[in-house]
Amino acid sequence: MKNLAHRNIPITIVGGGIHGISIAIRLLRDMPTAAQHIAIVDRHPKPLTEWRCKTERQGMTFLRSPAVHHIIPDPLGIVEYAERHNRTDELAPPYSQPSTELFWDFCNDALAVSGLQIPPTGHEVYYQFDVAKLRWDKGAGKFPFRLISTHNEGFRSSCVILTIGSGDCAYVPPEFTEWQRQYPDRIMHASQFSVNCKQGEENSGKIVIVGGGLTAGTLAKSLSKRGHHVVLIARKQLKTEQFDFPPIWLGPKALAEFASEIYFQQRYQIIQENRGEGSITPDVMETIENSRNVDIFPETHISNIISAQGLQVETTRGLITNVSRIILATGYKFNLRGYDFLRELIRQSPIPLVCGLPKLDVNLQFHPIENLFGSGTVAQLQIGPASGNIAGANLAYERFREKLFAQLPQAL
Ligand SMILES: Cc1cc2nc3c(=O)[nH]c(=O)nc-3n(C[C@H](O)[C@H](O)[C@H](O)COP(=O)(O)OP(=O)(O)OC[C@H]3O[C@@H](n4cnc5c(N)ncnc54)[C@H](O)[C@@H]3O)c2cc1C
Repeated sequence: MKNLAHRNIPITIVGGGIHGISIAIRLLRDMPTAAQHIAIVDRHPKPLTEWRCKTERQGMTFLRSPAVHHIIPDPLGIVEYAERHNRTDELAPPYSQPSTELFWDFCNDALAVSGLQIPPTGHEVYYQFDVAKLRWDKGAGKFPFRLISTHNEGFRSSCVILTIGSGDCAYVPPEFTEWQRQYPDRIMHASQFSVNCKQGEENSGKIVIVGGGLTAGTLAKSLSKRGHHVVLIARKQLKTEQFDFPPIWLGPKALAEFASEIYFQQRYQIIQENRGEGSITPDVMETIENSRNVDIFPETHISNIISAQGLQVETTRGLITNVSRIILATGYKFNLRGYDFLRELIRQSPIPLVCGLPKLDVNLQFHPIENLFGSGTVAQLQIGPASGNIAGANLAYERFREKLFAQLPQAL
């Protein structure tokens, strides 16, 4: 693989996850020659690694979203792929949600066809490059952005799109920080845990999962199927929903109303209300409710955790003994300040934030920085509750498409 050092790249996408790849595929569809002028950089050697790891670690077997949400612009792309490969049984009712394996194979096929991995032009598009610093030298000519890797290599770019997800912002509720410090090998966030790792000792103790969302439900399902005794503890009653946000948030009416809200704090509130504190899909809920290996404790608080024969967990429903591990399925709380590689940029050019989220302009630009865009969780205050989901990538691309075209050489 060639490297990027000392090159000038018109458009750089930071993050080769679902959003970064979806945006690149859409851009190449609209303008195939763009392959020579874009770079996708990610800390992983291959695209979509983060997605693959997260779904595998939880043992997730089906996506939550319907078949029309994926990484290419043709809504029926994955259905047609399933038909071509006799895999329509991997589209689950009621919304043809694809199996994670089907989705993964479809994504790889889409990547191969798109020219992002082995471009027909011979130009490299995807690079393993962990961005340690992003600088913006306003007035430094056509390529004002400088990206520096953890290996101290650097290159310049005219335009940068941040598609960094929220994986670096795992949320640990404050009451757990001290317990986690005391028992670091036994209490961990769900992002650090895999249902597939060797866990001989766990079979002899209970696994406590904290959380009421789909991650908690999927982990409970996967671990119970592997023979573990699971206790699922949620602060509230568990909610059953097919989707993690009401689908009206993909339609023009709700989005226009959201855009007309001038107070960004209020927009943040709307996102919280519509995404809620998490819910579990009906199929996963049915499995865990019927599993003899899963005890569900809703409306329960943990008041203390002590070490005795494994761990003992004191809750408002009584004592849970012989606990081998506690998994915090407590989600992610995005905060732009949590990203070290942006620290200098934020200090230099104060980007207004609301509860950690940047106030992007309607083109998803990080005002006052020109030609720095965002898609995914980072763009929530413009795109609304669907922003971080797969479908959010298309909504974002539509906002900055014209601005990207303007970066391509014939326009430079
Ligand atoms: C288990 C799970 C299941 C989900 N299921 C669904 C679903 O069914 N439907 C749906 O719509 N949504 C779903 N989501 C939500 C969402 O669609 C996914 O999280 C999706 O992966 C988000 O894509 P992304 O590109 O924004 O982020 P990510 O996939 O997290 O990609 C971000 C990328 O940025 C890279 N990166 C970050 N910082 C740097 C840096 N400094 N330098 C280099 N690279 C960097 C990371 O390595 C990563 O590859 C699910 C989420 C999870 C966790």
